[in-house]
Amino acid sequence: MEVITRKCSYCGSVEGKIRPIGNYVVKLKALHMDGKSYLACQSCYLNKKTEMNKTNEKDIALKKKLIERLKNIFVFTTTILYIVEFSV
Ligand SMILES: [Zn+2]
Repeated sequence: MEVITRKCSYCGSVEGKIRPIGNYVVKLKALHMDGKSYLACQSCYLNKKTEMNKTNEKDIALKKKLIERLKNIFVFTTTILYIVEFSV
């Protein structure tokens, strides 16, 4: 009978065995990143999740900045148009 051993995609910890660092029984979870599926132990799962959340937060902050800039441009343009309209 073939025994399938599943390992963490990041640190190589074997499922069901004690992880040397952390001293806990490894349970693997599926992690979806960049359109691919990975297996991650508890520790790597948390690390990757935190990493992903940080990237998302950066993305959101960047988008907010962009929206703020577009708003300013919009207000500027409408003000100019308003001035032009009433000066003619
Ligand atoms: Zn791991």
